[in-house]
Amino acid sequence: MADLLFCAKYPFTKEAREYVKESEAKISDEIIARAKKRVLSALLEGEIPKFSEVLSENLPKEIFSYAASRMIVSQTKGRYFISRYAVAEAKRAGKYLSTEEDGNFSKALLEFGIQFSREGKDTFKIPVLKYLKYSPKSIDYKLVNREVKGGAVFCTKQQLARIAEEAVKKSIETSLPIKAKVPSQVLGAANEIIKQLPVQETQVSKIASEDFPPCIRDLLERLAVSENLPHTARWALAVYLVNAGMSVEAIANIFKTAPDYSRETTLYQITHVKERGYKMPSCATMDTYGICNARCGCFSPLRYRKGMELRNTARNKETQGDI
Ligand code: SF4
Repeated sequence: MADLLFCAKYPFTKEAREYVKESEAKISDEIIARAKKRVLSALLEGEIPKFSEVLSENLPKEIFSYAASRMIVSQTKGRYFISRYAVAEAKRAGKYLSTEEDGNFSKALLEFGIQFSREGKDTFKIPVLKYLKYSPKSIDYKLVNREVKGGAVFCTKQQLARIAEEAVKKSIETSLPIKAKVPSQVLGAANEIIKQLPVQETQVSKIASEDFPPCIRDLLERLAVSENLPHTARWALAVYLVNAGMSVEAIANIFKTAPDYSRETTLYQITHVKERGYKMPSCATMDTYGICNARCGCFSPLRYRKGMELRNTARNKETQGDI
């Protein structure tokens, strides 16, 4: 017998999927309405609120709304929307997990083969391979910055919940879009949602040019396909663009394709970068962040352009000399 509260909190689990399958529930107007709310909240706000009902009779509707949401978001036919939806579902699961009791915490993580053991009150150990597979791409989670012993990585519960978020996100992203034919109510709901979605402009392709160093071009390209860039990468990109003289508004538009984009937060963070006058990290620091992807021979990404000009001038002189 399925644990409905567990399934409602973690509808991506095998237990929840089996419950949906065995229930043979028909898609009702109420489930579609819930799913529409869920998808719109994910795509427009970047988050899905935790459900408020404590009535057990509402739990099945919550579980079915996830299944219907997956069908609806598949109809948007855009990788950006799928990624944004996956991030919102993962964040919702992360919120539940961070305060979850041990039994359900362990059950949810086992969904992704993550087995952990406790080392004291708030210290957990997980196998290094699972850690590497699911840890967020942020400097705090780099293995060199973690305690590793006997093939296991030490984490707090919050960190483990964050790792599980990545696992949820990856699992949703790779399982969508659903290609099977969907009921007409789902198509209708998807069409209504599509009309409310912002048009995705290819901001990055407009600005990407030879002037940008390889590291910055790479970040812009990854952002353009809605990759969830780690914090240090976003920060370095924002610092670069601010120092290159771009306006806060224009930079915020570039970040629009981030799956967890929030206009308010992005504008605040870029303004903060500008007001604090953060300097561009050196190439050596970019390398420690794991962002440097070439050997340009310049001290800082901001000097790349100057370096290119000098190299071109030198090359032209050599060519003229050859003639
Ligand atoms: S060497 Fe500097 S400019 Fe070139 S890719 Fe690395 S960090 Fe960027």
